[in-house]
Amino acid sequence: MPVLAVLLIVLSTPALASLDVGGDSFTYISLASSIRYVEDSRNQFTFEDVLTIQPNDWKHNSGQVFSKGYSRSAWWLKIHLSNSSSAAITRYLEIAYPNLDDVQVHIVEGKQHSAFYLGDRLPFHQRPIQSTDYVVPVYFQPNSEVELYLRVRTHSSVQVPLTLWKKQDYFDWNRIENLLQGFYFGIMMVMILYNLFVFLAVRQRNFILYVCFASTLPLFIAGLKGFSFEYIWPNHPQLNDHAIIIPLCLALVFGALFTENFLKVKKLGRWAPVVFRIQENVILLLFLMSFFLSYRFIISILIPAAVASCCLGLMFGILMWNRSGLSARYYTLGWSAFLIGGLIMGLNKLGLTPSNAFTENTLQVGSGIEVILLSFALAASINEDRRVRSAAQSKALEAERETRLAREQALQFQQQAAAELERKVEQRTAELESLNRQLSDLSDTDQLTRLKNRRYLDRVLQEELARCQRYHHDLSIILLDIDHFKQFNDRYGHLVGDECLRAVADVLAQTISEGTDCIARYGGEEFCVLMPETSMEYAEKMAERLRSSVNNMKFSVKNEPANVSISLGVASLCSNRHVTPEHLIKRADQALYKAKQAGRNRTVVAGKDVPDQVSTAPPKSDRRLG
Ligand code: GH3
Ligand code: MG
Ligand code: MG
Repeated sequence: MPVLAVLLIVLSTPALASLDVGGDSFTYISLASSIRYVEDSRNQFTFEDVLTIQPNDWKHNSGQVFSKGYSRSAWWLKIHLSNSSSAAITRYLEIAYPNLDDVQVHIVEGKQHSAFYLGDRLPFHQRPIQSTDYVVPVYFQPNSEVELYLRVRTHSSVQVPLTLWKKQDYFDWNRIENLLQGFYFGIMMVMILYNLFVFLAVRQRNFILYVCFASTLPLFIAGLKGFSFEYIWPNHPQLNDHAIIIPLCLALVFGALFTENFLKVKKLGRWAPVVFRIQENVILLLFLMSFFLSYRFIISILIPAAVASCCLGLMFGILMWNRSGLSARYYTLGWSAFLIGGLIMGLNKLGLTPSNAFTENTLQVGSGIEVILLSFALAASINEDRRVRSAAQSKALEAERETRLAREQALQFQQQAAAELERKVEQRTAELESLNRQLSDLSDTDQLTRLKNRRYLDRVLQEELARCQRYHHDLSIILLDIDHFKQFNDRYGHLVGDECLRAVADVLAQTISEGTDCIARYGGEEFCVLMPETSMEYAEKMAERLRSSVNNMKFSVKNEPANVSISLGVASLCSNRHVTPEHLIKRADQALYKAKQAGRNRTVVAGKDVPDQVSTAPPKSDRRLG
């Protein structure tokens, strides 16, 4: 069998141009343009079968990377290499795509055939060189030619970036690349931890969603780049398919949750959260299906779903661009960076863009920029929230101040109204009191003479008598009557009689100037003077003074002097302390009666000039008749 194989190799070799990899100036070389390939769509060729394929059936690879997108076929690649130098050399063949499931490398030099079996279905330590990418050492004898055959079959995207390295240069470059990848993971870790601490301080949902989202990205990249396999589960290759799908699904779900929550998409309408629910449920469904269905099937749906999801995020960012201020702008820029990075990488995986160090790592660059910009967005949103809160606070304060002012004004108004009311009540009360006084005065005043009337006298007499009796003080009264007034009326007329009554009243009032003495019209042409604290003697003197005042009064009718006189009866408390007001009046009346009898125009004192006859005194009407 080996003899046959070698024979076949010899037959097929001359048709291919060889690539010289000898010499000291050699560092590395991309083998893309030297690749010839054959598609084994039924997946049935053995290495021996491949050796029998005619030179013309091998196709020339035109791209910078051998890339066939997602394909079920097995692909056979052939590269013809030569060492024109006179020294034996070792070169490293690198296949820089760690997601390939199954890779065979056959190295044929002369009659020698060696094979390496690689792929992420095998435990990590089985690799000839322990590296995230697949690396195989290739030995060249001096002035020799080597034929490389590669068989590649994978559920992931078929990409075979082939590079031949000088051993030391490969390790140097690998160190630099690992350093750059480490830099990316370092940045992500810092952003995740920083925002986790911020979350622990502020307890805002946005931050924990950001932390979850940002954590899934390096996990996804680690899966994609083979770091998870190398460092986390090197002995469990069966986990490798999930290493990409699970972080990607989680990234999309947390990305959607973060977007919805951060951008407050509810503001756009009820439909907006529904879009996110649908998106999240589709991703979760794919996530669950990934445990039962093939990787190829799930990834072929998940990649367009991821692109759609990123586009949605970007669309919502643009919709909220003006509504949410700076935070939405940072968000949109960050999401754009991620989308661009993801798109370049997606196109690369589909074999639509060239595969190189840049296109292989755009997702790291995009996601790194995104995570940084989203962190800025979160900081901006805190500032915006603070601004909104402080605006609401000052509005509330303003409203409170206005309410307080309004309350103060209302209170002031109320106080003014109360004061006004009080003033009006006082005014009304004063007016009422004055009216009452006037009314009381009116009811106590005799309308003709303006002196107090009998009603008033009766009341005051009762009070003063009781007081003077209690304190054993004196009290006297004078009852007086105009003499022959009927005749006066008859002679001059009733109206002149009224005038005369007024004139007499004025004279009497003027004569009684004492503050405590009180004069009242007792009825008809009769008057009564009440004199508290006054002895009988003084009362008699006063009676005489009154009589003489009236006598001396100048009253003329039609320029003719008319003589007016009065008769007076004095009664005093000193002669009988236990009398009633009626008794006192009666005694004075009896004395007056005596004065009339004695010829009028005189004073008679009860108990002095006449004995008291209270019980026997004739009624007033009788006296008048007399
Ligand atoms: P005397 O007392 O001296 O015994 O005689 P007299 O004429 O005064 O006695 P009498 O009591 O009989 O008369 C009182 C008169 O006074 C009767 C009445 O016409 C008159 N008189 C009473 N009240 C008024 C009044 O208000 N105006 C006028 N013009 N006359 C009145
Ligand atoms: Mg009389
Ligand atoms: Mg008279």
